[in-house]
Amino acid sequence: MSQLRKEFNQGPRTLRQQYVSVDFVVVGGGLAGVCAAIAAARKGLEVALVQDRPVLGGNASSEIRLWALGATSHMGNNNRWARESGIIGEILEENLFRNREGNPVIFDLLLLELVHREKNIQLLLNTAVLDADIISDSIKGVKAFNSQNSTLYDIRSPLFCDASGDGVLGYLSGADFRIGAEDKQEFSEKFAPDEEYGQLMGHSIYFYSRDTGQPTDFVPPEFALEDITEIPRYRRFNAKEDGCNLWWIEYGGRLDTVHDTEEIKWELWKVVHGVWNHIKNSGEFPEAENMTLEWVGHIPGKRESRRFEGDYMLNQSDVVEQKSHYDAVSFGGWSIDLHPADGVYSDDNGCHQWHSKGVYQIPFRSMYSRNVSNLLVTGRLISASHVAFASTRVMLTCASNGQVAGTAAAVCNKHGLLPRELAKEENVSLLQQKLLRSGHFIPGIPQAGDCDLALSADLSVSSTLSLQSLKPDASWQNLADRRAMMIPVPAGSLPVFSMIFRACENTTLEVSLRRSDKHFNHTPEIILDTQTLVLQKGEHAAVVEFNTDWPDCTYAFLCLEVNNKVDVALSSERLTGILSLAQKGNAKVSLGSRQEPEGDIGFDAFDFWLPERRPEGKSFAIDFSNPLAIYQPGFMKNGLQRPVKKTNAWLPARDDRQPRVTLEWAEPVTISQIGIHLDNDFDHPMETVQWGHPERVTPFCVRSYRILDARGNTLLEKRDNHLSFNKIQLPNAVTTRKLIFEFDRDGIDHPAIFGISCY
Ligand SMILES: Cc1cc2nc3c(=O)[nH]c(=O)nc-3n(C[C@H](O)[C@H](O)[C@H](O)COP(=O)(O)OP(=O)(O)OC[C@H]3O[C@@H](n4cnc5c(N)ncnc54)[C@H](O)[C@@H]3O)c2cc1C
Repeated sequence: MSQLRKEFNQGPRTLRQQYVSVDFVVVGGGLAGVCAAIAAARKGLEVALVQDRPVLGGNASSEIRLWALGATSHMGNNNRWARESGIIGEILEENLFRNREGNPVIFDLLLLELVHREKNIQLLLNTAVLDADIISDSIKGVKAFNSQNSTLYDIRSPLFCDASGDGVLGYLSGADFRIGAEDKQEFSEKFAPDEEYGQLMGHSIYFYSRDTGQPTDFVPPEFALEDITEIPRYRRFNAKEDGCNLWWIEYGGRLDTVHDTEEIKWELWKVVHGVWNHIKNSGEFPEAENMTLEWVGHIPGKRESRRFEGDYMLNQSDVVEQKSHYDAVSFGGWSIDLHPADGVYSDDNGCHQWHSKGVYQIPFRSMYSRNVSNLLVTGRLISASHVAFASTRVMLTCASNGQVAGTAAAVCNKHGLLPRELAKEENVSLLQQKLLRSGHFIPGIPQAGDCDLALSADLSVSSTLSLQSLKPDASWQNLADRRAMMIPVPAGSLPVFSMIFRACENTTLEVSLRRSDKHFNHTPEIILDTQTLVLQKGEHAAVVEFNTDWPDCTYAFLCLEVNNKVDVALSSERLTGILSLAQKGNAKVSLGSRQEPEGDIGFDAFDFWLPERRPEGKSFAIDFSNPLAIYQPGFMKNGLQRPVKKTNAWLPARDDRQPRVTLEWAEPVTISQIGIHLDNDFDHPMETVQWGHPERVTPFCVRSYRILDARGNTLLEKRDNHLSFNKIQLPNAVTTRKLIFEFDRDGIDHPAIFGISCY
């Protein structure tokens, strides 16, 4: 029988319509939206994730190809162990494992797989939200259109999250927003830009190039920029630089960055093809002869447009002074990074980046609309001034805030609250603790809670590493730069240090003991004591004893001044929470080894003390006069899952071949869920694309372990782990008086455990 279908004109038709009813709608599938949807779905909500593109990830996707960054700031500031954790942490660690070369197509796949795996998420790709149904101050539903299946969706829900970058839902629903920059007075922001600098950042388009192995021509399109000197910084182009390195090909900061996007895109295409024409055809880049244009973005990456007003607007002083908020739920640590509105056509530097001395909290009151009662906002839409936004806008911060939005939706759903009610002092710990239980990090807020059965257990371990020395490995570091070791020293335990030096002639060396003003920071601005070592020519040990008290538990910085006649002996042993540093700059994020603000712009002057990226970055070889008790078993119960003022980790003794942690209860307890927090090097930024990484799993991360019950039955055997947070749902709840965790040392020198919780 024929399959032919004929339809004759019976008047206008309507598009196919599909009705969707869920607990939570997330608009926008950038990293913020992805994390919001996953967080809510994992807490049991039925979620619709509506994304107008064929892939997820927004600016991090293969469509735009930005490397996602956050508080680690490419390891270029003093934010130690600051990588975002929780869901975005899982994404980064999984991406490192599968894609350490940084292929953007593999990153797309990973995001699609993670979302696809969540049975509670209805993923609507290629579907753009275009209308909202509002009653009073509340959103009842959204309409969205999918051009691929020609379907109009009517999506209903009690709670919504706008993660769309430009804030389409917030805009349609009447939420209060801003676009542009506040003046200096409103929040006393000394860095607020003037009209000349411009009040909005523009879009960018990236390109990739490739060596074909043979001479390759390039005929530019007619619309390519002809005169490269229209770009004042054109001499900075270099045939080998592409992708994220050319972030400063930016345009549109003087236009309407929502509605003028197509116009901005054409201008950016003009510039990109003009730049490539210059590289290929000006004769100034003979090394480009065999190179071809591999890929050019079709969609511009958007930096800035609307910001929505919540009950609190984060501002410059929150970031710089690291203010504390009772409703802290997330954190940032990227510099305040503003760009001139003229972008690529500006004579000025492409950006001005000013760092804080450490990470800062972000309050929940900045993550919902102040006038649309059931609207959470996340990603780059949060309630922040233009200046504070210049820091919160990076994707790992956005993604962390996404997890907050999804978790908040789940808590609101469970307790019958609206976001504003959840933000009240008496309620917000519900959200904070839910976040912390999922591996999310909030500076200054430890995981706590009566439901964690591990807290009521007797905890014992097979052994504990007491740090007496880091043994030399016959390698040396010349002191051409200032160098330092960060050592977490317990209150009252300042040891005498002994190090080995090699001097090419008789000389002296200044050694100082420093710490941070704020004990939770890692900027060693306070000098407590300085000693001058007299070094004879040759190799010998020197003892350093400081004349100072050590009343608080915090990091000690043992700093060696510059003397290029001297080498210090190194150790290959890398231990959780101990780092060697150099006072230097990272050109990607700062102008030099010291931050010196230009005029009175509201930032601190301070030195950058940076670790080297692995596989570099050996410790100094040191003997401590008294063993340092810095890996105590009790740390596993303190609710802090990364080094801050101390290591917060338990490490077994070096000769303990089968490290074990035992939890014992006076009465049998029933456990169905276990969380184990491991060390996957929170200092490593794990840039998602383009940037290669030395290994798939960091050398600190426990790869395999077993969990046994009181009778020695194996409840779980884990192999090939590469994640810092292992959340284990036991197939059947167990009732037991004892759990034993056996950690293997295969592939790692020092298994480190930050915490174990049982529910
Ligand atoms: C050139 C450039 C360089 C940058 N450099 C970095 C960097 O190095 N590292 C870093 O971390 N950050 C960087 N940023 C900042 C960062 O990329 C953005 O601030 C970030 O992507 C914001 O995340 P988001 O999830 O809020 O939005 P997005 O990543 O923009 O995601 C929003 C998603 O919502 C979708 N959407 C929009 N409208 C609709 C609709 N109507 N219906 C459904 N879906 C919709 C969009 O298609 C998009 O996929 C840079 C930005 C630019 C432009």
